[in-house]
Amino acid sequence: MPSPVLRFAPSPNGRLHLGHAYSALLNAAFAAEMRGRLLLRLEDIDPLRCRPDLAAAVTDDLSWLGLTFEAPVRRQSEHMAAYRAVLDGLRDRGLAYPCFCSRKAVAAAASGRDPDGAPLYPGTCRGLPDAGALIAAGHPHAWRLDGAAARMQAGGLAVTVLAADGATSVRPAEPARWGDAVIARKDVPTSYHLSVVWDDAVQGVTHVVRGRDLEAATDLHVLLQALLALPSPAYHHHALIRDPAGEKLSKSLGSVALAALRREGVTAETVWRRLGFRRAPDGAPIPVR
Ligand code: GLU
Repeated sequence: MPSPVLRFAPSPNGRLHLGHAYSALLNAAFAAEMRGRLLLRLEDIDPLRCRPDLAAAVTDDLSWLGLTFEAPVRRQSEHMAAYRAVLDGLRDRGLAYPCFCSRKAVAAAASGRDPDGAPLYPGTCRGLPDAGALIAAGHPHAWRLDGAAARMQAGGLAVTVLAADGATSVRPAEPARWGDAVIARKDVPTSYHLSVVWDDAVQGVTHVVRGRDLEAATDLHVLLQALLALPSPAYHHHALIRDPAGEKLSKSLGSVALAALRREGVTAETVWRRLGFRRAPDGAPIPVR
């Protein structure tokens, strides 16, 4: 068994809020319990929304919270060439195709919804005979995974599930619900799904601890891992911290940003307590069950 490696992987497109703090603390708690390593990764593939000042604020907020991560911090924006090579490999194997559709066109032609509630792509651009000419002429395009071809190559798939007590179990994966998912956006040669799978493997991540909002995406992630012959980590999807109205916390809610709490004089200790953690003698968080 490789020694456990965990990671906290926020996107620096806003200030960290209590939901991030919970996820980071839970990662640190699992890492301490398993005597594993704890890494930090900045998922900053979005060139418009991810700003350097927000990336700096992430590390600042985390150290205020009292969490330390192994250096160096991995920044996805520095690895575009690697993602492009992975994408090219899938394309060369006939598993990815360019999609020239606008958001509006996809919504109009959609044949249902994906697990995120977004319009399910009906495959309009799959097998487009003049795709090469359109690319050569400079038409903007994303890249989609050919879901059916990918699933056929990958065969039966399973997700290893990590329970709160550290026990693992296995469930079947159902990537078909994602249809032909976007694996590279129009503006960058990758997507969240492609980068997260590649980086977890490159960083040797063995245990992924993240919010339940990403649970369904895991089925697509294990499909990509199988296609790319990458190891599949164990996954724990934790409950989402909600605001008083029961809504999932969004980064737009300034009042729950760690920076705002800090300005109001709230201590990191209080945040730990409010989120259900106490401090072990060695400083690591322990969930209060
Ligand atoms: N970057 C993602 C987010 O901030 C999390 C990715 C992951 O943990 O897999 O929602």
